[in-house]
Amino acid sequence: MIIAGNWKMFRGPDPHALGGLDAIVAPPFTRLRDCVDAGLTTYAQNVHWEAEGAFTGEISAPMLLELGVTGALVGHSERRQYFGETDEGVARRARAALAAGLAVIACVGETQEERDEGDTETVLQIQVGAIRNACGMHDRLLLAYEPVWAIGTGRTATPETAQDAHAFIKSLLDRPVLYGGSVKPDNADELMSQPDVDGALVGGASLDLDSFAALCLTASHS
Ligand code: PEP
Repeated sequence: MIIAGNWKMFRGPDPHALGGLDAIVAPPFTRLRDCVDAGLTTYAQNVHWEAEGAFTGEISAPMLLELGVTGALVGHSERRQYFGETDEGVARRARAALAAGLAVIACVGETQEERDEGDTETVLQIQVGAIRNACGMHDRLLLAYEPVWAIGTGRTATPETAQDAHAFIKSLLDRPVLYGGSVKPDNADELMSQPDVDGALVGGASLDLDSFAALCLTASHS
């Protein structure tokens, strides 16, 4: 079971206080070095497809590797929603990161409107398809199913909804799939006991040391 904490644009807890936890952390760029130095498995929250160039505000895979970073998230719904990232761009980011030697957690998931319209599988097919075509079954590639309506909203997919989506995603690309969307200590056990849920990508609850530690403990028993 894999637990990954996405600190978004928050400073997050003291990396040294997380020392004993078996987890991935994805802090903002300014805290990457602190997390690496604390011995944590550290992912960036994004990565560009070029090694260098005139891309203000971006960071490349070789730069992250130089810092000791292990991997990167790509395609988080907040990147897709607020910064216009496309399936094609997400796939390019994933491919470049893997080729450079990073691990990747590629995020996919439908909006509430898409779910209401019955389009969940179509959306997943398009998003996962773009990643599959660019990366194939790479052994450093993980996926995260993060229904947009459950991220930061306090609404969690039911274990059955998560299981259905994960099984569908694996039928498209057979890699481990983390669930993300308001995972907390009190709902993690049920979610992680689903056969195709391979861990959790945690936003809000990863910012609090006690709840993140509790999630890691739950994962170690699942
Ligand atoms: C996330 O940011 O990936 C996430 C799942 O956030 P939250 O746990 O707060 O819903």
